[in-house]
Amino acid sequence: MSVKRKATFLHKLASSLCEACEFDFNAKYGELGFNYIECHYRTPLAEYTSTSKTTINDLALVCSNCHRMLHRKTDTLVVEGLRRLIAS
Ligand SMILES: [Zn+2]
Ligand SMILES: [Zn+2]
Repeated sequence: MSVKRKATFLHKLASSLCEACEFDFNAKYGELGFNYIECHYRTPLAEYTSTSKTTINDLALVCSNCHRMLHRKTDTLVVEGLRRLIAS
């Protein structure tokens, strides 16, 4: 990974905004909430082949609640599906 790509990656990881419920932990909790986010793989790891490379687009940043929800179903719910569910 190039230095620039790595910087972008780390910047995204430093975000505290949940992609599903859009709760911003940094905005709400200040410094305490900084970086309080989890990585969720959009593609189930089982579908990866040895040649697949994980890119930043394969990762979704979600809060612990949404992450648990995404994994509650055996057929892992997609982030977009959870977003719709929250909005409905
Ligand atoms: Zn969330
Ligand atoms: Zn996950």
